[in-house]
Amino acid sequence: MGKEVYERMYDVIVAGAGVSGCAAAVSAGRAGASVLVIEKNGYPGGTLTGCGVGPMMTFHAGDKQIICGFMQETVDRLMEKGYSPGHVPDTKQYTDTITPFRAEGLKTVLDEMLVESGCKVLLHTFVGAVEREGEKIKGLTLCNKDGLNKAWAKVFIDATGDGDVAAWAGLPMTNGRPEDGASQPMTMKMKYCNVSTQKLKEHVLTHLDEFPKLKPHEKLFKEDIPIDLEGFDGEVAQAKARGELSMARENILMFATDREGEYIINTTRVIGYDATDASGLSEAEMAGRRQCAELDRFLRKYVPGFENALLEFTGPSIGVRSSRQLRGVYTLTAGDILSCKPFDSAVAHSGYPIDIHNPSGEGAEAIFLTERGDYYSIPFEIMVCPEASNLIVTGRCVSATFEAQAAIRVTPSAGALGQAAGTAAFLAARKDGDVRKTELAALREALLRQGAYLDLARA
Ligand SMILES: Cc1cc2nc3c(=O)[nH]c(=O)nc-3n(C[C@H](O)[C@H](O)[C@H](O)COP(=O)(O)OP(=O)(O)OC[C@H]3O[C@@H](n4cnc5c(N)ncnc54)[C@H](O)[C@@H]3O)c2cc1C
Repeated sequence: MGKEVYERMYDVIVAGAGVSGCAAAVSAGRAGASVLVIEKNGYPGGTLTGCGVGPMMTFHAGDKQIICGFMQETVDRLMEKGYSPGHVPDTKQYTDTITPFRAEGLKTVLDEMLVESGCKVLLHTFVGAVEREGEKIKGLTLCNKDGLNKAWAKVFIDATGDGDVAAWAGLPMTNGRPEDGASQPMTMKMKYCNVSTQKLKEHVLTHLDEFPKLKPHEKLFKEDIPIDLEGFDGEVAQAKARGELSMARENILMFATDREGEYIINTTRVIGYDATDASGLSEAEMAGRRQCAELDRFLRKYVPGFENALLEFTGPSIGVRSSRQLRGVYTLTAGDILSCKPFDSAVAHSGYPIDIHNPSGEGAEAIFLTERGDYYSIPFEIMVCPEASNLIVTGRCVSATFEAQAAIRVTPSAGALGQAAGTAAFLAARKDGDVRKTELAALREALLRQGAYLDLARA
């Protein structure tokens, strides 16, 4: 039973069901393509559900919403079901809005959207090899409870984050910074419940000079809203001096979820490992958990409001910020981002800054766009490569330099790119499957019809 999945020729196979893969699959399915989705976890959502990442950051540039379409629909559905308050002000000095959500809710919303759009979904299924003939990808070898089987499609979308399909097809990739191959650190997230927001806020608001990175939004003082912050640098330095903390990070970064007293801690920093190396990834997971155990003791001892907090979970898997990138028809650069370069082929926009967590130690570098409200364009050509006719790469592994990837890697832009990838895959599958010949005007018209935001004046 169920084996016909390996006999059928799908229009589109999407490898990876993170937000980018889900956006791609749902968009292709809604357009009318037959779609098979392959996901190694038992649920969709990628880093957001499988690594405890949140909030989504950011849909806005200044007051303008520049990421809409599939991603906004996802937020709307989360809000309808009580799983998200929607876009709220960012109380740190980083972006204009952030979008908290409940990971369990996201799983069900994405399940629902995949099923409604007619996608066939294989969970607990790992793409392990790629069959390529010349320029064409013919099929993927899948490993799951059925054993090893192949799946076939006219067009393939690599939404694995690590670019597994492209790499195993032997396509040119980069991995890490050019000078030493180092990637951004991995982070094992922690999620706490039973944090006293009142106590935490009271401490922060009475010690504002110790939190220079906090942008105390007026709402913070007036209403009982949770607090997102980066700080406790002094306490961290002292704990390090006492040998209580060993992580290569100088402060605590925390985000409230949509639930009273629940916080995500984005603070461990695991450096020196390559997420595409199985041994390295396994060691990184364990190193991340060791750091979490130290941090758990630290938070409950030294951070006001955490005295009775309960560590709900770590991970579940370590979060990977960057690894392999496609070497595409075009490679997005920091210059393109910082100059807000217009592209005829723009398929998404973002206002998120270049956000590099130091690959070799403490510190992070953020390079912001010049003016509040500025945003840049992301061209289609970073998702396709000259060597493969029927492959689109989406999400955090698109063709971008180390610095540019550090800007476009976040959830809203990964989802917006996924919507473009799925729509382009549908258009190609109706013809000869060659995604390099995508008619950009038709793609952009289709995206606009679907409610995506595109600033045509910037083309
Ligand atoms: C520590 C950390 C903190 C972050 N903080 C934020 C934040 O605050 N806000 C924000 O918006 N973004 C944040 N990000 C970035 C964001 O989470 C991701 O980069 C973004 O969601 C990427 O989405 P994606 O769909 O491209 O990849 P992913 O979410 O990584 O999805 C890839 C999917 O492919 C699956 N997969 C991988 N390989 C295979 C395979 N071979 N076979 C089958 N399935 C496979 C994975 O299981 C996963 O479901 C953070 C990332 C990290 C790691």
